[in-house]
Amino acid sequence: MKGTSHLLVGGVAGLITSNVFETDPVTTGILIASGGIAGLVPDMDVDGTLSNKITDSHKFIQTLAQIIGVLIIVYSFLTGVGQEKWNGVGAGVGIILVASFITRRHMLLVSGLGVVAAGLFLEENWLFLFGVYIVVASLVPHRSYTHSILGVIFFGVIARQVEAAFGVEGLFWALLAGYASHLLGDMKVLPVNKRGIKLLLPFSNRDF
Ligand SMILES: [Zn+2]
Repeated sequence: MKGTSHLLVGGVAGLITSNVFETDPVTTGILIASGGIAGLVPDMDVDGTLSNKITDSHKFIQTLAQIIGVLIIVYSFLTGVGQEKWNGVGAGVGIILVASFITRRHMLLVSGLGVVAAGLFLEENWLFLFGVYIVVASLVPHRSYTHSILGVIFFGVIARQVEAAFGVEGLFWALLAGYASHLLGDMKVLPVNKRGIKLLLPFSNRDF
């Protein structure tokens, strides 16, 4: 499935979740958006292999890393005290510089490390874990671990922390449903997919 389809199906998963929880309109909007975004997450592993999409994803990831760098600078400047403030600013500048000069192959890895650092600096568990997720995604082949049950469980742990951090009802389920919808959309049972996904990694290489 293509990115736009995953976004759409993930959004529908978020909408279904909001129906189950009978959320108010604002929360419903948040859950639809969250489901849609979660529906894109498994394909963060595109950098893991040299796919032809690499140029697009490189630009996107580079911009993302630079935005994270800027946010770390602003956050450290506003909330940091003494040395801590300048450590944060230095880290942010470092991320921006590295993101600007690094080769495309390692872009995702570097961004992941940046998110790990941001999670540590901001003491946000979910951000730290998501950084770890991105680092792993940057190292494994496309459609492998991020598209497995193990990947769903790991993302579920992140989603739990996200709900705890933001306190939005149903957020955990919307994120999880969005993520799971991506895997369903990539399975061989759908005629649009020539190849399936290895759901049972690392225990089995079977294609589903
Ligand atoms: Zn996929």
